[in-house]
Amino acid sequence: MKILLVEPEFPIPSKERNHRSYLPIGLLKLSTYHKKKGDLVKLARGNISLEELGFEPDRIFVTSLFTYWRESVKKSVEHYRSLFPHAKICVGGIYASLMPDDCKEYTGCDDVYVGVHSEAEKVIPDYDMLANPHNLGFQIIHASRGCIRNCKFCGVHRIEPDFSYKRSIKSEIRSNRLVFYDNNILANSHIKDILREIADFKYKGKHVSCESQCGFDARLLTPEIAKLIKKARFLNVRIAWDGPWSDFRKIKKRIDMLVDAGYKSKDIFVFMIYNWDIDFNEMLKKVKKCREWRVQIADCRFRPINQKYDKYSPLKKQTYNDYYIHPKWADELVKRFRRIVRRQNICVRMGFKKYSQKLEARGGRDRGIRRRLMQQLRHFGYNISKIRQVIPVKDGFKVNVRVSKENYEVILSADYQVRSITKRE
Ligand code: SF4
Repeated sequence: MKILLVEPEFPIPSKERNHRSYLPIGLLKLSTYHKKKGDLVKLARGNISLEELGFEPDRIFVTSLFTYWRESVKKSVEHYRSLFPHAKICVGGIYASLMPDDCKEYTGCDDVYVGVHSEAEKVIPDYDMLANPHNLGFQIIHASRGCIRNCKFCGVHRIEPDFSYKRSIKSEIRSNRLVFYDNNILANSHIKDILREIADFKYKGKHVSCESQCGFDARLLTPEIAKLIKKARFLNVRIAWDGPWSDFRKIKKRIDMLVDAGYKSKDIFVFMIYNWDIDFNEMLKKVKKCREWRVQIADCRFRPINQKYDKYSPLKKQTYNDYYIHPKWADELVKRFRRIVRRQNICVRMGFKKYSQKLEARGGRDRGIRRRLMQQLRHFGYNISKIRQVIPVKDGFKVNVRVSKENYEVILSADYQVRSITKRE
């Protein structure tokens, strides 16, 4: 059988298509699954021409993402239907699982696949189907499926209704960077064993680092687990604070656990759902707490799980006809909240007391200098442990850096090229 796997043209900037948030991991698993069965498989990322494809499939599987991106799914079904009128087209993924009837009627597909494909779930994704798979730099992995909770704004219980988990993931590791897609990684009763095995595991002679895409369920965090998370080298740690402001003591306790485990507060993120049941003023009190604690906020704008459109634009005045606005909120408040969070995060990250555009611009410039300087000095064999100070001078910058317990002064041109490196007494 010839199988065509299709990722529709979702409104994702092309440079982000291989980003860990958007990789069509379900299709990559289906690819391995069908290849094992002896099928010929091709992956189409977007609506490509017959010539480019060079292949006439018997079956077509189209993935879907958010319900409000259903138009892209419809366009793909129509495109491949017109190319291959005799091939059966099945749509799976998030939108298909949340709104199967709407998906069938709206897209005109033949079948809808609801939920997780239990057989494909057992295989390793076929990363070789991607262009430049070796440049990907990470591996997506699941140690569990489903979730033990049932938060009212979340669709997981409909897509993955049963909670299932693995006892070990060691045998699946194929990269030094793991991105866990678990909905609630800490709900796995074997999580301590998994964190311990990651802490000790080496792939190609090097330790692995990790990220939990959905963060950690704060209610399940304990001092012991926080330490294991740190030992397993999890980066960008996030916990959710979706409840009321009055929960702040419980949240602070979890942040303290992470700080005690060795994370810097500025590197901790608190997920916050807004444009939801908690009104703007209460959300501002939550934001203020995060400022006091010097943690960053990962704000998530609420959309109902069956929302069919979202044309949100941060710089325009908009109405309910453009995107979902909760009855307790307004377009102006949604945008103001987003702006406040963004500015506060810059202050926390950069260590500013108060936000100003001038400081933000300077922070952006310094980050650019740091990145370029690191690259160049590494190329010259200097392993920088710290960049201390960036001072603008005539025609460029003077930067004080520390390399292997010694201090150096680096002169950079205005376009950040290294001109000289001098050891300081
Ligand atoms: S804990 Fe997370 S994944 Fe689980 S139901 Fe709540 S929001 Fe969804």
